Amino acid sequence: RSKLRVGLIPGDGIGAEVIPAARRAIEALGSDIPKTEFVDLEAGFELFARSGDALPEETVEALGECDCALFGAVSSPIKKITGYSSPIVALRKKLDLYANVRPVVSVAAKGAEDTKPVDLVVVRENTECLYVKQESQTTSERGKEARAIRLITEYASQRIGKMAFELALGRPRQVFTIIHKSNVLSVTDGLFRESVRSVPRLVENGRYDNVKIEEQIVDSAVYRLFREPQIYDVMVAPNLYGDIISDAAAALVGSLGLVPSINAGDNFVMGEPVHGSAPDIAGQGIANPLASIRSAALMLRHLGYTSGADRLERAVNEVLYEAQVLTPDMGGKSKTQDVLDEVIRRL
Ligand code: NAD
Ligand code: MN
Repeated sequence: RSKLRVGLIPGDGIGAEVIPAARRAIEALGSDIPKTEFVDLEAGFELFARSGDALPEETVEALGECDCALFGAVSSPIKKITGYSSPIVALRKKLDLYANVRPVVSVAAKGAEDTKPVDLVVVRENTECLYVKQESQTTSERGKEARAIRLITEYASQRIGKMAFELALGRPRQVFTIIHKSNVLSVTDGLFRESVRSVPRLVENGRYDNVKIEEQIVDSAVYRLFREPQIYDVMVAPNLYGDIISDAAAALVGSLGLVPSINAGDNFVMGEPVHGSAPDIAGQGIANPLASIRSAALMLRHLGYTSGADRLERAVNEVLYEAQVLTPDMGGKSKTQDVLDEVIRRL
């Protein structure tokens, strides 16, 4: 690539504060990445309230012309509102972003001993399982009866498995844990487990030979995640288990304002902080921009811009653990802008 086109979808609430900060951090990378062009795009609940459309066709089309994107957060009303559905769920489908990748890393504050260091990445299948949202309701002798379809395919399980194996190759420990419940759901979770296990046989000889493949039933995986998180490295899971495990893992390392993710497919990648639109602090200039800057780093790493990603991540860690320029969610008094300025200074 001689040029990088990055779509920016701040969305609602603090999205409008943290995504511009991530943009400035990317711009500060200079020659580590190709010349970058940013494309401002709209989506979200505030847009829906104004225009009746949460995800305009222009936004989807413009993303088609981009190499990657950064998504802030969108508000979702608790009560169902006719005509509104979450643009992020729709975007994952439309762009076939079949993997949600969420690294969770604890770094001890300077001088402190970290007894349970967490350094894992959850790789969650993003398109199937119960999230196909095929639910129905009837009545029976038991009264109302509701059911949902849980879809697992060999195709989707193998492609998420392949992405997870590739991620494992880039990690020092190369431990790979398949999360499932095939002791009970032998057909669906059995297919997930078998499909992921078949991946090494499908790629060129021996590519994943050094990866240590393990598996864990989902409930005991959560138990062990809380008791001994250090045993995990790469965790690959079907959609619902992955959703729950990745939120649980994020809780092990503190503020939501720190945890990044990407939604990735074969042709597109979208960085997205794990947090929401934080209406309680929106507009005050105190949102923590580090989750978004780390999401930008993950996005660049996924595209192969390793040195740029490394520099961003190093700068974030220095701000956290050396400079300690911290927003109020981390116990500090600094503003979004102060944190960004310090990140840029350290780049
Ligand atoms: P939230 O993540 O927005 O906020 C939870 C708490 O964490 C709040 O106290 C908030 O101030 C704090 N927080 C979150 N991000 C922060 C940051 N970067 N810096 C400092 N503090 C931060 O979750 P919520 O309050 O449950 O949801 C608020 C809205 O966001 C809801 O409408 C919800 O539907 C939406 N939401 C969207 C996404 C998404 O777009 N992917 C994810 C979660 C929630
Ligand atoms: Mn979730």
